[in-house]
Amino acid sequence: MPVKDADGNINYIIFTRLDATDMKNSLRQTTKTIIIAVMLALLLAAIMGFVFSQTLTRPILELTKGAKNLAEGSLNQKIKVRSDDEIGQLTASFNNMAAKLEKNIADMSKEKNKLEIILHNMTDGVLSFDKEGELIHVNSASMDMLEVNELHLTFSQFIKKFDINSGVYLDMGPEISQKVNFPVGNRFINASFSPYSSETEKIAGVVVVLQDITEQKKLDDMRKEFVANVSHELRTPLTTVKSYTETLLEGALEDTEIAKEFLGIVNSEADRMAFLVRDLLQLSRFDSKQVQLDITEIPLNAFLEETVRQNKIHAETKEQNLYYVPAKKDVILYGDRDRISQVINNIVTNAIKYSLPKAEIRIFTGEDAYYYKIMVKDTGMGIQREDLPRIFERFYRVDKARSRAMGGTGLGLAIAKEIMESHKGRLTAESEYGKGTTMTMWFPKEQQEPWEGEIL
Ligand code: ADP
Repeated sequence: MPVKDADGNINYIIFTRLDATDMKNSLRQTTKTIIIAVMLALLLAAIMGFVFSQTLTRPILELTKGAKNLAEGSLNQKIKVRSDDEIGQLTASFNNMAAKLEKNIADMSKEKNKLEIILHNMTDGVLSFDKEGELIHVNSASMDMLEVNELHLTFSQFIKKFDINSGVYLDMGPEISQKVNFPVGNRFINASFSPYSSETEKIAGVVVVLQDITEQKKLDDMRKEFVANVSHELRTPLTTVKSYTETLLEGALEDTEIAKEFLGIVNSEADRMAFLVRDLLQLSRFDSKQVQLDITEIPLNAFLEETVRQNKIHAETKEQNLYYVPAKKDVILYGDRDRISQVINNIVTNAIKYSLPKAEIRIFTGEDAYYYKIMVKDTGMGIQREDLPRIFERFYRVDKARSRAMGGTGLGLAIAKEIMESHKGRLTAESEYGKGTTMTMWFPKEQQEPWEGEIL
């Protein structure tokens, strides 16, 4: 540094010298300390950050994961509550919500299962369509009734497939329900269409309930046919009686010969009506289970010999050979003697009626492990295969004119069958058309002891 005098001339120069090593060292030391301090601070900050994040973000992440699982349907979500701050409270609320949701869904699926079980086990078919006509539910009874293995139909396809065309629409408005009958294979189904509504929508779709009414329809048809048959059977003799009486009143009475003949006809027609009414009453008693059987011992050999004796005369007038082949071992049956006699007489009378002169009618007995059997075999006209199962039906006759001409009511075998069934037995027929018929009365062996013959 120059030192100047008053005039500004440099008088001398001050020269100082300092050793900077110490300073440099101390600066380096300070820098080092600062770096270490910063490093330590950073490390501390990182550690603290980590610890902090562990306590704050981990529960949030857990909550997020839990919510995601919940949304995906895994309802059993319970998250550990680690603190009692806001996050802790949120976690507790989440756990509470998940538990409630799980319970509600469990209740709902229990209800749904209950409904499913009821619908599945119902004998009625149930189908439901939404308001777009999509099938939303179908139970197994419906499939059985509609004779399908699976059903993927819209409402209109359903209507079309089963040919239901009587005013059934998806939007039936306020109409309560509409019933329709339609055939499926050889069954008859009754479908009842009812619109249903939801809380938000007026009409939400249609429920279809299917019922199998085949039996009901069959019974209904049978009842109608029965009434028609009875009326028809009564009308013929009534018309005859009426016309003969009128002819008598108009003057035929004067001629004793003609009058006698006409009265004879009137008498036999009246008999025919009386027989018909007697048979009908008997059937009606069986139908209403009002039959009291009078069970006694029936020694078979004597009983069947008696039957032959009673019918011999009718067979002889047709030169037919009616006979009984006595059983080696005489069996004693238990039954209502009069009624069993009615059955065998009906069978033998039929054998005589429906066999030509010179035919052979053989009565014989037999047994198997469970039944004693009485058989009547004729060499008559026989019954065609398609008629055979129907001869036990009421009023069924293979040849109506012939049966009527022979005084049959068409109810004999129907009554005979009822009588055999009331004895816990059976009545069956085998026949070869043109060759002959064998009728078999079956008596269960276990029933062959004194028993109370009341049908309750
Ligand atoms: P029916 O009063 O007409 O004899 P049934 O009920 O006794 O009534 O018999 C029903 C029908 O069965 C008869 O009309 C007849 O066609 C047929 N049938 C019954 N027995 C015989 C038989 N042994 N041979 C041929 N046809 C028979």
